[in-house]
Amino acid sequence: MSTATLTTPDTTAAAEPLIEFAQVEKTYSNGFQAVTPFDLSVGRGEIVSLVGPSGCGKTTIIRMAAGLSKITGGTLTRRTDDLAYVFQDPTLLAWRNVRSNVELVAKLKGVDKATRRDLATRAIETVGLSAFEKALPRQLSGGMKMRVSLARAITGAPDLLMMDEPFAALDEFTRATMQAELLRLWRVNDFSAMFITHSISEAVTLGHRIVVMASKPGRIQAVIDSPSPPTKDGSPRDERALAELGAHVSTLLAGAH
Ligand code: ADP
Ligand code: MG
Repeated sequence: MSTATLTTPDTTAAAEPLIEFAQVEKTYSNGFQAVTPFDLSVGRGEIVSLVGPSGCGKTTIIRMAAGLSKITGGTLTRRTDDLAYVFQDPTLLAWRNVRSNVELVAKLKGVDKATRRDLATRAIETVGLSAFEKALPRQLSGGMKMRVSLARAITGAPDLLMMDEPFAALDEFTRATMQAELLRLWRVNDFSAMFITHSISEAVTLGHRIVVMASKPGRIQAVIDSPSPPTKDGSPRDERALAELGAHVSTLLAGAH
């Protein structure tokens, strides 16, 4: 008998985490256990990075948190419905141009046209695609499509961003720019985020906490508080402490396959 529950209470006491996983697990319908019971919470305004080998259950975890995949054990509490999800592959509507794709989520949320236009203009600018507003997805590179997908997610300033390797297809320079933009947006909009990445340096740059996962079976190996997390005032980070953290994560991952 399964006692798994996903609750979304409407109480929003500020001190409570936005997401709480308590002994959550996932066994797919074919009997494969993708994630063994784990605990994790995501605080308000906190960015949690998830790193780990392919197949360790990262996507499964954020899909469960977003309500896109059922949990099969434990309890998952999410204290907001205002979330945006950036999928591993950019999911754009082929017949809509960049602007129209970016405005879509805000439109579905019922945001009025003028506000939606303003929000989309800013988001498109943020991802550096102002010159491509009228382009259709097939006219864009993979990296550009990913940026459209990101612009769509940030239009409407959600409480919670779920991001599944959103920058993996970008070149190094664009990737660094997007990381900086994401942190700039975080300082202004104060969202929480779960951010999956294969890049240790990206996990360390963006995360207040780093979740290091392991596979076979999929599980959380360690949750590490950043010694120098992103700050609201954008003050300089302790690069040395971050490099040490990166090295530590790298050592953990070496044994995670
Ligand atoms: P990651 O994102 O860390 O690469 P996933 O969460 O995508 O890992 O997948 C975790 C494990 O669950 C993998 O072994 C994958 O093959 C398996 N899996 C994913 N989706 C399904 C599904 N719908 N049915 C059965 N197994 C699945
Ligand atoms: Mg994945």
